[in-house]
Amino acid sequence: MTGSPFRPQLLCRLKSGARTSTTAVLSENLLADTLPHAASVTSAPNNHGVNFTDTKELFSSVTSAKMLRSLIMLRLASSAPVADLGMWVMKSKLMDIPLCRKAVLGVTERTFYRQFCAGEDLASASATARELWDTGRTAMLDYGLEHANDNESCDVNMEEFLRTIQSTKSGVESPISFVVVKITAICPVRILKRVSDLLRWQHKDKSLNLPWKLKSLPLLADSSPLYHTAARPAALTAEEERDLDASYARMAKICRNSIDASLPILIDAEDTAIQPAIDYLAYAAAEEFSSGEEEPLIYNTIQGYLKDAKDRMVMAKKAANEMRVGLGIKLVRGAYMNSENRLAESLGVESPIHDSINNTHRCYNECADFMLHQIARGSGSGSLVLATHNMESGKMAAAKAVDLGIDKDSKRLHFAQLYGMAEALSFGLRNSGFRVSKYLPYGPVDQIIPYLLRRAEENRGLLSASSFDRSLMRNELIRRVQSSPAHGKAMQMPTSQV
Ligand SMILES: Cc1cc2nc3c(=O)[nH]c(=O)nc-3n(C[C@H](O)[C@H](O)[C@H](O)COP(=O)(O)OP(=O)(O)OC[C@H]3O[C@@H](n4cnc5c(N)ncnc54)[C@H](O)[C@@H]3O)c2cc1C
Repeated sequence: MTGSPFRPQLLCRLKSGARTSTTAVLSENLLADTLPHAASVTSAPNNHGVNFTDTKELFSSVTSAKMLRSLIMLRLASSAPVADLGMWVMKSKLMDIPLCRKAVLGVTERTFYRQFCAGEDLASASATARELWDTGRTAMLDYGLEHANDNESCDVNMEEFLRTIQSTKSGVESPISFVVVKITAICPVRILKRVSDLLRWQHKDKSLNLPWKLKSLPLLADSSPLYHTAARPAALTAEEERDLDASYARMAKICRNSIDASLPILIDAEDTAIQPAIDYLAYAAAEEFSSGEEEPLIYNTIQGYLKDAKDRMVMAKKAANEMRVGLGIKLVRGAYMNSENRLAESLGVESPIHDSINNTHRCYNECADFMLHQIARGSGSGSLVLATHNMESGKMAAAKAVDLGIDKDSKRLHFAQLYGMAEALSFGLRNSGFRVSKYLPYGPVDQIIPYLLRRAEENRGLLSASSFDRSLMRNELIRRVQSSPAHGKAMQMPTSQV
């Protein structure tokens, strides 16, 4: 673990108004904003040892400069006008004008990109992963790719995934815990749509024959939304079947390389229109490459905000147990709520998203509970990546794991947060002995824009995910200022000199 050379003079200078840069002014506002409730934002330690109260211990490995920078970035991202303006600019025609685009990407690179991303290439990502390792966390390496539309792009993307996997083959303990694979980057989206339509129709009409379909775990539940497929879809053409085969071959190659590198794969979840096809490719690969006896090779993502989340997860897991297939689950709440709601509304159908945030929380926690019980059953029974920034979900799962006698250091239970977010939760869980990973996107700035837009949406608003984290960081910065020798001297001076 690296120490944290605290630099109180930085904050003192900022507070004295000696600098008039934007950063200094912002910092002053941040701290002034904080002082009245400096001691009020705490979370009581629970009886299973996850402690978010002691900010000194929580942020012991974070330098003050880094904390101040995070505080500013998260505060800016949570400001609705800033987030709205950023989102508007990124989606506007201004981005088509080369000079504007360069300027916008330059500002983004120096601000939000640095907060939420690990750098342009594998070398920078590996360096950031090392830094995380030095603070007791591991990295989930995510090459920032979004949807691919043709086979050539899919091949290029697959090579990038393979390079990422190769880079982790160090032979010794690695700072990389998982490689993230986006099925939308290795299978053309039009194929994912066609396959999802056919899978949905087959769920309605069991007589529909899908000759290309490989052995897989169950995909859809009776509670799953089927409205995306209004009419019986045509069978895949010969060319579409070839594209699907090529996509599965890419997935299979990634699996073989991951087995070679002993590196499990996390598969991201996307919107419900294409999720059945993503689940299909994930579960078919799990069936072929992941034995139930070992630590699972494949972790598929379940989005707790979906009404059918628990049904689908329980069905898949039970079938995996019966078929002796190793299946890990990455549990998230979900990042596409607005577009899902908009689509359902435009079609005049019921939204697939839970009707209230409390129902989402309940579903998420019940899914976590189910998977923790699976893990507690013993070897081969389950593995969970609990991907959340929600303190309550984190604390509840940690307490449940202890109650069920799951070893805190078990390879079958990981907590995960996005890089640059929810540091308090990450450090609290890590200090308590759990395995914690940060989801680490990397890649050229313009390629990462869609990811950054999702983060802007998520952090937007005063009650955003980052508000608790910001409060704790502010408290810790104030504590450091107040406990610095410079502050002590200043307090002893006659008031006229302060
Ligand atoms: C490591 C990691 C990997 C991830 N991978 C994926 C992925 O593959 N696919 C994906 O979709 N997302 C993914 N996410 C994003 C995740 O889904 C978001 O972080 C999520 O939106 C925030 O959830 P939270 O658990 O942090 O909970 P909270 O901080 O409690 O966030 C709750 C948020 O959920 C939203 N919400 C959900 N349901 C409702 C509802 N019914 N009514 C109103 N609001 C609701 C609200 O915006 C609310 O602010 C990942 C996150 C992490 C940390």
